[in-house]
Amino acid sequence: MRVTFGQSLTNKGMTVDAALKLVEETPQAGNTTQAYRVLARKYRPSKLSELVGQETLTTILKHGIESGRLGHAFILTGIRGTGKTTTARIIARSLNCTGPDDNGQPTIDPCGVCASCTALSQDRHMDVIEIDAASRTSVDDVREIIEAARYKPVSARYKIYIIDEVHMLSKSAFNALLKTLEEPPAYVKFIFATTEIQKVPQTILSRCVRFDLARIAADVLCEYFKEICTREQATFEDDAIAIIAKAADGSVRDGLSILDQAMTQGLQEKGVCSIKTEAVRRMLGHSDQAKIYALFQSLSEGNLPQTLTLFRELYQEGGEVRHIFEGLLDTCCLLTRLQAAPELAQDPTMPETDRTQGLDISSRLSVSQLSRVWQMLLKGYGELSIAPSPEQAGEMVLIRTTHTANLPSIYEIIKQTPEDGSKKKP
Ligand SMILES: [Zn+2]
Repeated sequence: MRVTFGQSLTNKGMTVDAALKLVEETPQAGNTTQAYRVLARKYRPSKLSELVGQETLTTILKHGIESGRLGHAFILTGIRGTGKTTTARIIARSLNCTGPDDNGQPTIDPCGVCASCTALSQDRHMDVIEIDAASRTSVDDVREIIEAARYKPVSARYKIYIIDEVHMLSKSAFNALLKTLEEPPAYVKFIFATTEIQKVPQTILSRCVRFDLARIAADVLCEYFKEICTREQATFEDDAIAIIAKAADGSVRDGLSILDQAMTQGLQEKGVCSIKTEAVRRMLGHSDQAKIYALFQSLSEGNLPQTLTLFRELYQEGGEVRHIFEGLLDTCCLLTRLQAAPELAQDPTMPETDRTQGLDISSRLSVSQLSRVWQMLLKGYGELSIAPSPEQAGEMVLIRTTHTANLPSIYEIIKQTPEDGSKKKP
């Protein structure tokens, strides 16, 4: 059951989940016979073993549930989209599952068929109460929970309060909660979720078992998204998925919604879906990476005419100046990393262009050259927003950077200066 503070239990507040459901129930073109389910919802894990990239958390919870030594309050923290709410629901499901024969104990492998599991999957469990603290933060709202916590669960083993975005509660609301948190009735469990753990008072934290949900590594996301494509019978180019995994920035949910978009875009006749690298790049507003490499190479070699021509081409193809510079900075950082550790090219999430062209260019530049280009591009990037025309500003920065590419570094100047300090004759 999902409620918002201060509302009656039947009056549901709009949460991320409700929004997802709404999107899902809106029929899509070409798929009118069956309601379309967004990937994030369709593939939402319902047991611990299905959680992606959270091995530490899974192991601790598994031991806790199996040994029956789980605390009465938990706090889940991590960036958005790492699965905090999903984990909270899995814990609730695990604790209240009674098994297919109704005699089961809490389990890490909920059956999915008992009354509790069924009610939870349909969002209508009377004893699992989801609250969005972002919408109601006052002390009265918390008093409402405390009051309700005095009554035993209607049907389940535990009465479980899932409080999302708990850091939004007011100071007095936290204080009101503290007493119940100290000595809760044996049948009550609290599961808090937050993106901003530093805003939760220490007094609350010290009474909770804390779980940090890690940002999910790009290679883990990559594998996961490929698996989903296969299950959805969509074909894909490896680089396209690598780009999506990178853009997801550690969040499964963000990644899945990009993948959803890419699948819709890649939909062809007769429901065949194919995800192409170029299409994904365009969708995410990335410029053609091969051209960004060419531009980077010509500016680091000091070839001014070519630099300006390539910049103009990228601009005319619709690339925003900011995006072009972001691409150049990204490339510069990657080349420096490749220069320091060429084995990084073995990373499976690295797109093919980066692997081949990246290694090639980085082998011809020194770390000091790369850091100089980085400094100049970064400073120039800041100038783009204050210049009357970003296009002009972009050109000026590129001219400056290309020009300095051919100047010797301080190290080279020192090396050329004789030890007596006299100037070398030209
Ligand atoms: Zn069950």
